[in-house]
Amino acid sequence: MGTFGPVSSRIPSVDFVARQLAGSGLPHPILVELARQVIADARQAPDGSEPARFDDDPGSPGRDAESILAAASDAAAGFRRGLLQPVINATGVLLHTNLGRAPLAVDRPGGYSNLEMDLGTGRRGDRSAHAASLLARACGAEAALVVNNGAAAILLALSAVAAAREVVVSRGELVEIGGGFRVPEVMAQSGARLVEVGTTNRTRLGDYRTALGPDTAAVLKVHTSNYTITGFTESVPVKALAQLGPPVAVDLGSGLLDAACPWLADGPPAWLAGEPAVRQTLAAGAALVTFSGDKLLGGPQAGVVAGRRDLVEQCRRHPLARALRPGGLILEALQDVALAYLRRDAGRVIPLWRMATTPVEVLRRRAESLGVGEVVECASVMGGGTLPSVAIPSGGIAFEGDITSRLRRASPPVLAYVREGVTICDLRTVPEELDPVLAEALAG
Ligand SMILES: *Cc1c(COP(=O)(O)O)cnc(C)c1O
Repeated sequence: MGTFGPVSSRIPSVDFVARQLAGSGLPHPILVELARQVIADARQAPDGSEPARFDDDPGSPGRDAESILAAASDAAAGFRRGLLQPVINATGVLLHTNLGRAPLAVDRPGGYSNLEMDLGTGRRGDRSAHAASLLARACGAEAALVVNNGAAAILLALSAVAAAREVVVSRGELVEIGGGFRVPEVMAQSGARLVEVGTTNRTRLGDYRTALGPDTAAVLKVHTSNYTITGFTESVPVKALAQLGPPVAVDLGSGLLDAACPWLADGPPAWLAGEPAVRQTLAAGAALVTFSGDKLLGGPQAGVVAGRRDLVEQCRRHPLARALRPGGLILEALQDVALAYLRRDAGRVIPLWRMATTPVEVLRRRAESLGVGEVVECASVMGGGTLPSVAIPSGGIAFEGDITSRLRRASPPVLAYVREGVTICDLRTVPEELDPVLAEALAG
């Protein structure tokens, strides 16, 4: 290893260290890089930077190599932890933005699909013929289009319907969603001109009416899904806005498909009360609705534009649609989700709904049979910027002190939370079949 100058007798070569880590399964060039770094650190250690990590006693020639290998093994484990992998979400946050929002089951052999092939004619087909048209059916829309995420859906809708024209929005709805999505900025990006009406807490129908003009392309209503304003407030329902004339576009974000939840045997749970839904928003007269695939819909990351056929068609023909289109994997997953809603068994087969509606008694029983920690009552939240003031009663297990760092290092990593010096694992967000794995991680 000439690049490192004279090799000390007690420091192993980069190649030797890298080969010792082969069992980690990481690609050789990455192991070489990690080994180089660890050895470089070891060389600096005697100068006082980290003397405790390496034994400088010439009487024990093996110790340096041992500690270098141990450090390299830690480095490889650290690198692995940085890669995408399944984790156990015991945070009780159902749509955890840092954990990929809606949990998704994908079971798919490698192979082709008829993504853009009409199997009837053998000619080129349309990639929105499957998932998008099923979703349209499931929410009562004339047509729908799928893009990469909710932000892309609203960007495309505004670009296609309102570029170089005016869009009227209430000042109470100029929101910022997570990840830097700000309505005024998306509007600017689309080329539409924002016309603000009303005030932060109160906007009336008259405010909208006064703002309408020959250049008005649409009225936009944004679901303020990640916060609530209470007190002296007033906003205008879609039904009234739809009477104004211009098409009403509604950014629903959370994407509850139908307020009646016909896919749940017991109907909508109490904590869902007041959440606007796609079907009812369209029925109230919205011309277009945009929403995410991975929030209350419970599907993969995607965005949906649904509504009037001519407007959806305008979106489909816009050049941005090509840039924002999702891949076949996403469309297949979304197709399964749409089919589950149409079969009305989404409550059973979509993991989000199954978890969200599991009775507390079931969670408590599972907590007891884990046989570790103390069984406690806790509260789950929907998360992902939805249902901000809602707590869903839940059950879990508690441990004295903060053990979250140890749990994050378990295999698979377990994410929990700390409240008043106690670590809590909420079982609502843990699929039941992972209970044994969780028990093992907690006991370890
Ligand atoms: C979440 C959300 C978005 C953004 O959707 P993404 O799928 O995260 O891109 C836009 N508008 C509203 C109201 C939302 O809640």
